Amino acid sequence: MSDPKLTKAVDSICDQFIVTKSKISQLTEYFIDCMEKGLEPCESDISQNKGLPMIPTFVTDKPSGQEHGVTMLAADLGGTNFRVCSVELLGNHEFKIEQEKSKIPTFFFQDDHHVTSKDLFQHMALITHQFLTKHHKDVIQDYKWKMGFTFSYPVDQTSLSSGKLIRWTKGFKIGDTVGQDVVQLFQQELNDIGLSNVHVVALTNDTTGTLLARCYASSDAARAINEPVIGCIFGTGTNGCYMEKLENIHKLDPASREELLSQGKTHMCINTEWGSFDNELNHLPTTSYDIKIDQQFSTNPGFHLFEKRVSGLYLGEILRNILLDLEKQELFDLKESVLKNNPFILTTETLSHIEIDTVENDLQDTRDALLKAADLETTFEERVLIQKLVRAISRRAAFLAAVPIAAILIKTNALNQSYHCQVEVGCDGSVVEHYPGFRSMMRHALALSPIGPEGERDVHLRISKDGSGVGAALCALHANY
Ligand code: ADP
Ligand code: MG
Repeated sequence: MSDPKLTKAVDSICDQFIVTKSKISQLTEYFIDCMEKGLEPCESDISQNKGLPMIPTFVTDKPSGQEHGVTMLAADLGGTNFRVCSVELLGNHEFKIEQEKSKIPTFFFQDDHHVTSKDLFQHMALITHQFLTKHHKDVIQDYKWKMGFTFSYPVDQTSLSSGKLIRWTKGFKIGDTVGQDVVQLFQQELNDIGLSNVHVVALTNDTTGTLLARCYASSDAARAINEPVIGCIFGTGTNGCYMEKLENIHKLDPASREELLSQGKTHMCINTEWGSFDNELNHLPTTSYDIKIDQQFSTNPGFHLFEKRVSGLYLGEILRNILLDLEKQELFDLKESVLKNNPFILTTETLSHIEIDTVENDLQDTRDALLKAADLETTFEERVLIQKLVRAISRRAAFLAAVPIAAILIKTNALNQSYHCQVEVGCDGSVVEHYPGFRSMMRHALALSPIGPEGERDVHLRISKDGSGVGAALCALHANY
């Protein structure tokens, strides 16, 4: 028999995770305000709307798909994985890619290991060396490799190939990287390991890579009816980018803006860093669990609060904190589970198994997932309630995920630009790619947003395969060696 007190408590928690239509509208409007604010020159501002970071990327053109050239390298430091690949753009929307993905060792995220920048970038250089040894042994030393570096953390980017880390997100906490040029740090370690023939010529982020890769891959016929307009990430973290008119980017140094305009450029890709949307909590839905995770368990309290409600790093942690609370109220027994003392032990991957488990199956996949991840034995009744919680958490995440997309489409008027008025949104990251139902819940929320069901029908959410590799290669293509 299920415990009515527990059922009631769970229902009331689930209610706190509901995002209504009017909330979506309010957040969408506020998001547009924050974008506009973020495009203004940075100055100290005492208002409650601090604006989004809106970082100029110095990428001014979308690829046509006909780009081709030498084989280039790309490296991608995400929040969970480090990828190295070599990409040969063949033109005609085709490319050849070799890639290796490795999990970033957990000690880079731990406080007590005193890791330095040097350790991290040395690790990356070493893996790059291993990659070249495995896939390009013949030319490893005497080939002039151009590398595009996908570094998906907020950087103050001053040119295509330089940028200083503003702050770490997604769990990293290596103090001595902040304020440093991450391209120089990586180049130094590549040189030291004997790879001075690998030149890091372009610094980009995963969102820009995703947008560029979608543009490259999309056929001319497809582009004629639905143009890729947004690149977005829902993985360990979340972020997005889009092309903004140069005349609207008031924060750009006037001289460089004039120069770009004189070269006939009209737009620049803006990395919104939407993970930090509404850090002031003016409108974001907030539960006591969100506050606790931010303040007690995250490495960057007060920052990236939108990300902490939406992305892969946090969804499992929200569930863990709810279960801790239920235990505190003596409604649920965590027994000896490792859940108690191990923040972030429940991953979004675990939640994805629970999300689609069925009652006909006695929720056995849920049982197995909780046993495996947290050594937690559960009754059927408890599993029913845990599944309810998981679905409330993921639904809120996907509903919030739709907000920036609706906002950018409205701000850029993208849905009224072409004859067929259709647009494509390039998406990357394990959550949007693999979490069951995530994209359909996003679509549901887009229909509830101010773009309405008609707008939603014209938006195509497409997974951008190999986004970071191909996108970084596209950025590196025209840069000088
Ligand atoms: P990165 O952020 O390093 O680029 P990913 O895009 O693979 O890496 O995202 C990693 C995040 O996705 C982690 O938070 C992980 O828990 C989550 N994840 C991995 N596999 C799945 C899955 N099958 N379903 C849902 N989430 C997943
Ligand atoms: Mg990634």
